[in-house]
Amino acid sequence: MSQECIFCKIIAGDIPAKLLYEDDEVLAFNDISPQAPTHILVIPKTHISGPAALTDADQALMGKLVKTGTTLAEQAGLQDGFRLVMNNGERAGQTVFHLHLHVLGGRPMTWPPG
Ligand code: 5GP
Ligand code: ZN
Repeated sequence: MSQECIFCKIIAGDIPAKLLYEDDEVLAFNDISPQAPTHILVIPKTHISGPAALTDADQALMGKLVKTGTTLAEQAGLQDGFRLVMNNGERAGQTVFHLHLHVLGGRPMTWPPG
């Protein structure tokens, strides 16, 4: 738990969020500023600052984040397509330094991303 981390505060229940899934290891909730009709964030309950901070010991956890994200995408009716995104570092658009997987869908998407 990081005192300053907004996602650690959501895990602790100190900041409200629309929770979609929770177990011992991961939490999923709606993004406060959705960039698509469905915009879910899936986070680990341990504070990891971002993708580059993952260690070998986190491999199963990382797989679980992706699997949770795809299950929630299915539950949201996104079988036609959805996007999973992880930003690493400010230059890539990371603004919250607690690892999170974005699950985006419900509208057509273009490539390359901005
Ligand atoms: P990043 O830019 O770091 O990849 O993504 C951070 C995401 O967290 C953004 O999409 C932003 O809208 C979302 N976010 C930031 N603060 C909060 C919050 O307090 N609650 C929720 N639900 N989402 C947040
Ligand atoms: Zn945190």
